[in-house]
Amino acid sequence: MTLFHALQQTLGNQHVLTDADAAPYLTDWRGRYTGNAVAVVRPGNTEEVAAVMRLCAEHGAPVVPQGGNTGLVGGATPDASGKAVVISLARMNRVRQVDTDNDTMTVEAGCVLQTLQGVARDANRLFPLSLAAEGSCMIGGNLATNAGGTQVLRYGNTRELTLGLEVVTPQGEIWNGLRGLRKDNTGYDLRDLYIGSEGTLGIITAATLRLYPLPVARCTALLALKSVPDAVTVLSRARAGFGASLTGFELMSSACLELVTRIYPQQRLPLEGPVEQHAWYALLELSDNESEAHARERFEAVLGAALEDDLVQDAAIAENLSQSHAMWHLRESIPLAQAEEGKNIKHDVSIPISRIADFVATTDAALQVHFPGVRNITFGHLGDGNLHYNVQGSRGEAEAQLLARQDDIYLLVHDSVHAFEGSISAEHGVGQLKRDELLRYKSDVEVRLMQRVKQALDPQGLMNPGKTVQDGSA
Ligand code: FAD
Ligand code: ZN
Repeated sequence: MTLFHALQQTLGNQHVLTDADAAPYLTDWRGRYTGNAVAVVRPGNTEEVAAVMRLCAEHGAPVVPQGGNTGLVGGATPDASGKAVVISLARMNRVRQVDTDNDTMTVEAGCVLQTLQGVARDANRLFPLSLAAEGSCMIGGNLATNAGGTQVLRYGNTRELTLGLEVVTPQGEIWNGLRGLRKDNTGYDLRDLYIGSEGTLGIITAATLRLYPLPVARCTALLALKSVPDAVTVLSRARAGFGASLTGFELMSSACLELVTRIYPQQRLPLEGPVEQHAWYALLELSDNESEAHARERFEAVLGAALEDDLVQDAAIAENLSQSHAMWHLRESIPLAQAEEGKNIKHDVSIPISRIADFVATTDAALQVHFPGVRNITFGHLGDGNLHYNVQGSRGEAEAQLLARQDDIYLLVHDSVHAFEGSISAEHGVGQLKRDELLRYKSDVEVRLMQRVKQALDPQGLMNPGKTVQDGSA
């Protein structure tokens, strides 16, 4: 029997998609990669995933796992050969358990992140993972990429939010590691190996995630700043003043907010004067577990001092939830506005916070020397040392012309990141976009160790081939 027919027999014809039904799964969110597949399959439970994996192993067919398909590095798109099977986890969207005594929830890989935030809220808890793609990305994809987002500063990446995993191996075995334990030192940490492995070691089918108390009060402000060094100083003061209550510190250049307010004119800056009047903006957020008044007092003390010391040029404090949402909306609209503006070159970098200002100044200047006129659209999670250091073409430049220079721009920016002891992928992963660059910046020892892990867990090399780490024999 052919693989295609065996898949139909295992899952039912309606869950084995081809042609127009399969098309949306075969192109990535940015429209940069398109591939082919034997089929896109949509298993409904863990046993079905395991059965599909056994069939693929038997037929030597590569497997590409997919969640919400919002990844930014081409990790969930198959290659052009048409040999792969894409496994969409979208139908596996059950919440298996919410345990408020243990402060955990156990959920399947296809649950949409925003839905899980709501499940937690309904149980009077917070699930803090939050990113602009939350309406469509899925927790399995978040785990596979170890997603970051806007609350990492306080709660950590997806890895830190995860206690246990259920995984199907490339051989079709099921590992039930859904332990809700905060302490468990029994051998190698397989959970942490699978988190962030971008579908190259196995399929994550479920997870046990940490829940937190819902904050009682939140304060949000949009700050106008002169420079990145000033932003770093304000961040440091906010850390000292708020401690664990500091839950957000997002930096945005004025070019980012100019783009958002031009593309989405209904969105306005809550500050007087034109956007360009200030070079940088920051979104500051404090979450308090005591009271509104307590939150406000702490917030205004830090902010007042920063204004007085001329570190902050202007500030708007949200008076209510809807004003706070509007401020976050400005920040979250940047990637979407950029996509509207046209193709751009994304760099998702992290740098030690102490060196970030120097990195921005040095790299901005070097770009203008080698690629005069390109526009920096720099924003990101300053509190995590993570910038989305994106480069848009010069005004009027044809997209094709910018894309022709893409590799040279990557090289310049990533060499600079390396010189500042940073990482070329802070939160989006490696996928196919940065696969070759990984080899440029990692030591031979580190690459070899990763290849041995890949070889040991996926000896046939069937899991998401061509992505992230190859086993060295390919
Ligand atoms: P997909 O895109 O479907 O897959 C991503 C990778 O994970 C692929 O390699 C895929 O093979 C693998 N995979 C998916 N599901 C599984 C599974 N169950 N088992 C094994 N492997 C699997 N990311 C951030 O970290 N922070 C941000 O702030 C952020 N903001 C974003 C904003 C926008 C507008 C967009 C479009 C994306 C953003 N991203 C961000 C990137 C993206 O949303 C995240 O990487 C997200 O975690 C991907 O989830 P997904 O379900 O869409 O995964
Ligand atoms: Zn981000």
